[in-house]
Amino acid sequence: MIDNKINRVAIVGVGLIGGSLAKALRQANRSITITGYGRNTDNLKLAMKLGVIDLYETRLEAAVHDADLVVLAVPLQAMPEVFKRMGTCLRPDVIITDVGSAKGFVVEAAKALGSLFSRFVPAHPIAGTEQSGVTHAATDLFERHITILTPVPETDREALGYVDRMWQRVGSQTVIMDVSRHDRVLAGTSHLPHLLAFALVDMLTRNEQDEPFRYAAGGFRDFTRIASSDPVMWRDICLANNHAIRDAIGQYIDTLQRLDGYLEASDQAGLMKLFTEAKQRRDHYLAERTAMAGNHKRTQDETD
Ligand code: NAP
Repeated sequence: MIDNKINRVAIVGVGLIGGSLAKALRQANRSITITGYGRNTDNLKLAMKLGVIDLYETRLEAAVHDADLVVLAVPLQAMPEVFKRMGTCLRPDVIITDVGSAKGFVVEAAKALGSLFSRFVPAHPIAGTEQSGVTHAATDLFERHITILTPVPETDREALGYVDRMWQRVGSQTVIMDVSRHDRVLAGTSHLPHLLAFALVDMLTRNEQDEPFRYAAGGFRDFTRIASSDPVMWRDICLANNHAIRDAIGQYIDTLQRLDGYLEASDQAGLMKLFTEAKQRRDHYLAERTAMAGNHKRTQDETD
């Protein structure tokens, strides 16, 4: 059981993340009723057939009006319109949350909820794949992954507590973070790498189409896997986190220029120092992550 208070859940956007959360919530609490909202009836029927949702609605108001919990899992640029339309048709004690990959943009958009803004808890599960759509939804997508919550001073503590427990119950480790810090950190660790992957594939194939792929080895596949991600989602993230991403691009260009300088000067020591330090820091990160996953797994096993 997640929480006795939550019986009816509305998932707005039944794709990879919305569908995965619906499946994980269902596993945690068999008695909840999950209604899916979307524009495409075929997708919603598929979600029902896959057992991801119990009911579906193509009218937003009908999907959310009696929900105890509303989860926004649509692309970022679709969120302002959803918040605007929901503001007048929700229950006063509703809890609203989202899964958007940029938080400053979503928090601004959520102000359209008016007096219900305090019931909104911004959240971002740091989990996903390069594949979109409900067919890829997985019950265990969030297990052993971090979910960042970015409450603002207005956020109701009860709503925050509920959303915090919900993410823990589906296997996430939750972290509370300031909105602007979230957007700055994620610009570097997620948004910039995606842009670099798209840019590298574009650069190599712009004139030669598929030819470079024929000679590509594992390194190229690893580096560019995320260039198979959904262009709509990444266009939206770029627009929503524009400033922080541009800062990250600027810092990356500085680093590339430093590398270019080492090459120009055939500076062996400079190259070795940069590569060695980068390798040490990444190895350290991987070791910490492995340890965290192990600890987290043990905690889960104990509480289940
Ligand atoms: P997805 O698989 O494409 O699912 C998005 C869903 O939203 C679709 O089922 C679509 O259904 C609906 N939708 C799309 N445009 C809409 C619109 N204009 N109005 C209403 N509904 C719309 O995408 P996703 O990967 O789950 O991403 C959803 C959210 O999760 C995004 O905000 C993203 O930033 C965040 N996120 C993604 C990942 C990831 O790795 N994918 C990770 C963390 C967070 P219909 O076509 O039926 O409307």
